Amino acid sequence: MIPSILYFSPLLAPWKAQLNAALSTYEQTVEWKAMQSIDQPPTSAIVLLAEKDIKTSDWPLIASRRTIVIVNEWCLENSIKWILKGAVNCFAHDDEHLISWLISELSKFTVNRSEQTKDDMLQIIINAIPAPIFFKDHLHIYRGCNTAFGQFIGHSREEIIGCSVYDLAPKHLAEKYYEADCKLLAKGGTQRYEAEALLCDGSIHEIEFNKAVFTTSKGHPAGQVGVMLDITERNQLIHQLDKATRTDPLTGTSNRREFNLIIQDEFDKRKHSEQRNCLMALDVDFFKKINDKFGHGGGDKALQLIAKWLQSKLRPSDSLFRIGGEEFYILIRDTDIQNAFEIAKQLCKGMATHSFQINQQAVHITLSAGVIELDPTTDLESSLDKVDKALYEAKSDGRNCVCPVFT
Ligand code: GH3
Ligand code: MG
Ligand code: MG
Repeated sequence: MIPSILYFSPLLAPWKAQLNAALSTYEQTVEWKAMQSIDQPPTSAIVLLAEKDIKTSDWPLIASRRTIVIVNEWCLENSIKWILKGAVNCFAHDDEHLISWLISELSKFTVNRSEQTKDDMLQIIINAIPAPIFFKDHLHIYRGCNTAFGQFIGHSREEIIGCSVYDLAPKHLAEKYYEADCKLLAKGGTQRYEAEALLCDGSIHEIEFNKAVFTTSKGHPAGQVGVMLDITERNQLIHQLDKATRTDPLTGTSNRREFNLIIQDEFDKRKHSEQRNCLMALDVDFFKKINDKFGHGGGDKALQLIAKWLQSKLRPSDSLFRIGGEEFYILIRDTDIQNAFEIAKQLCKGMATHSFQINQQAVHITLSAGVIELDPTTDLESSLDKVDKALYEAKSDGRNCVCPVFT
């Protein structure tokens, strides 16, 4: 039979042999383990603690084990004091009731081996779950975890149990976890939040923590259990997807969707600032001819070169968007209509004198443009209508020119 284990504090060493002899008289096989501190034994263990060994800092842990306080002189008042602090019972070391109580508890232990099996089974189950799982007591001390949690932070289960987050995580992260733990214990129920975690390989991962409080039979918070979901890859995919929906795949510039988002944002901002922004609408002249001459692939190449050239001419504060086909918008920030008109004219002039290489042939391209100062007091649609009309005017004025909207 597997011996039951009794944990005992150092001052009880002189009585250990005596107690052991008494227990073996009743065929109770016991393994004794001396402990340095009360948090060493597992939570289910029976702990014999000499009253004189108890430090004030041990008090909160008395209730977390099946603790028997052993006193030199037993008195009811003192016994009740320890029981109220969470001890299971209190005996004098030479009290025979201690023997009978231990035999009663140890036989329960033997009978309840199935309980132990249940615990082992639970550990096997959580070990089979690939997401890291941990549980901590009400004092924020790790009391258990699964294999995935150990692998995640690079420590064995034995190393983790008895530690706090401050022992296992960098201080700035530990503070975050501790704050969340305190909030959850105070509020009860469940909690979900996202935070970073440092992996054993040194990499930082984004984690969704899903936690729940477990309570004592009296309903007091006894600790919390947490499951960690690594959402790093998911967040990266969301980020990539979001970027893809805002980017034109052919030229790599922002697309109309991004334009709509940014321009709305600019309009909202403008209502609270003096900054003046202008919008230039550009359309490539006779682009169909490029497609006719070089084929659709050649036309695509031309669009890529045009976008790259435009981008290279912009200030860092300006933004280029491919709105569709061979049409672009440029948001010229912090500029009034006179300056934007000059910028647009320079751009058209620069394009007309530039020579692009498509299929080893020199190609000259011109642009027509409309330009408008965005007025946050009117609606965006009417500004877009006006600048598009100005662009068509530039087309009908003979192309390769800019038509400003002066309001
Ligand atoms: P205009 O000076 O009046 O603007 O003449 P245009 O030929 O540039 O204008 P139009 O709108 O008649 O033709 C635009 C052409 O652009 C037609 C369309 O096939 C081509 N186009 C639109 N998107 C793409 C694209 O992604 N790739 C290629 N290769 N061609 C495109
Ligand atoms: Mg065109
Ligand atoms: Mg067009």
